[in-house]
Amino acid sequence: MAERGHDLVVIGGGPGGYVAAIRAAQLGLNVGLVEKRQTLGGTCLNIGCIPSKALLESSHCYAAAREELAVHGVRTGRVRLDLEAMQRRKEEIVGRITQGVAALMWKWKVKVYTGEGRLAGAGGVGVRRENGKEEEIAATHVILATGSVPALLPGVEQDGERVCTSTEALSWREVPSHLVVIGAGAIGLELGSVWRRLGAEVTVLEFLDRILPGMDAEIAAETQKILAAQGLAFRLGQRVKAARAAGGQCVVEAEGDKPLECSHVLVAVGRKPFTAGLGLEAAGIEPDERGRIPIDERFRSRAANVFAIGDVVRGPMLAHKASEEGVACVEAIATGHGRVNYDAIPSIVYTWPEVAGVGKTEEELRAAGVPFRKGAFPFLANGRAHALGSIEGRVKVLAHAETDRVLGAHIVGPHAGELIAEAAAAIEFGASSEDLARTCHAHPTLAEALKEAALAVDRRAVHV
Ligand code: NAD
Repeated sequence: MAERGHDLVVIGGGPGGYVAAIRAAQLGLNVGLVEKRQTLGGTCLNIGCIPSKALLESSHCYAAAREELAVHGVRTGRVRLDLEAMQRRKEEIVGRITQGVAALMWKWKVKVYTGEGRLAGAGGVGVRRENGKEEEIAATHVILATGSVPALLPGVEQDGERVCTSTEALSWREVPSHLVVIGAGAIGLELGSVWRRLGAEVTVLEFLDRILPGMDAEIAAETQKILAAQGLAFRLGQRVKAARAAGGQCVVEAEGDKPLECSHVLVAVGRKPFTAGLGLEAAGIEPDERGRIPIDERFRSRAANVFAIGDVVRGPMLAHKASEEGVACVEAIATGHGRVNYDAIPSIVYTWPEVAGVGKTEEELRAAGVPFRKGAFPFLANGRAHALGSIEGRVKVLAHAETDRVLGAHIVGPHAGELIAEAAAAIEFGASSEDLARTCHAHPTLAEALKEAALAVDRRAVHV
């Protein structure tokens, strides 16, 4: 029998689940949150976004100290790497932030259950504790927010030491002499950049004839050139079919090419929804062909009062998308209304320079037959970018040819991930490119490049 009752139980304490729990508590619901890890925050905080950004910052500092400070007139002695301290810093940051989430749960009186959650018949959630004991909680509504795990590649024999996924590659205690990255998506490029800056030779093998599928093609091509100049070697059109570690070395085999020897392999070929042990079948929920939980526009699954959000459902696997869905799902439960604007979800790759996009790409607009005008502006013509010493890349704004409504913005350049927020707000507000162009932007800022790109839609950029 159920021991306690909640209006809502969320299974999964990542950025989808814990945000849903907070929003539900704000709306007056009595909320339980089930998480199998000892810490909250899911993949994002524990083994994803946050630790990778910590290492990206640290490795950037190291590379800057070695290669860039002298240009600023800053003389250092011999710069040495203390990888142990770098990893410790990363772990402290993760510890601080996951504890912060636990404090938020306490603040909002969300009851946290540590254990593996599963659907246990109508109105019930089972929680299996680490000691094997199972407790049942009564729940009027259940949200499944169990996230995703790295996709495996058949033929690639992961050993968790040299042939790894991002989870292990975030914690290597030695710099690989030669790292082969399989997959030129966000994970491959971010972690490839980290280890390249720390001194590894890095080769990226990508099945497609381009990097960063899903991002605007022109911006992706420019990104590839910039990263190649930093020393990342790209081999496109290569389908990896096998990789293994043997005798302190690794071998990677791609179709139609001779085997490649290296010291370490990072497999970054996408992620897949994690639903094992959730009891979907018994609840009458059949995952789709990609393992995702089918939902309707209000995040309802096929089982009564069972909802799903984040990486286990359709759409991009991004922390902030999951959080937005968590809020919308809970608002739909509590008020009958809740929505996510999927056209205004930015996506960012945290290389240096960063790559960011929101809305439609040029390719998507062409495929849909939408008439558009395009304005672009290079950071080469931005004063702040010169002061920063980062003049590579550009901003591109796409606007409807007749209404001038902003349909997309794509950036490769310094702090692109921060700049894209303004374009996302413009899309959310239904702004025109003229709205962006007439908005006063402070000088000297990188954000002026976005204004200039918006001006360029109407052929009236000032500084090019
Ligand atoms: P991805 O899907 O973005 O990229 C995987 C790449 O691997 C693709 O380009 C694909 O063509 C390639 N590939 C697949 N099979 C291959 C093979 N056999 N040989 C060679 N190449 C092959 O996946 P990812 O980079 O692993 O990221 C996983 C998910 O996590 C994505 O949804 C991503 O958006 C998300 N993520 C986002 C961020 C961010 O927003 N900064 C960071 C990390 C992860």
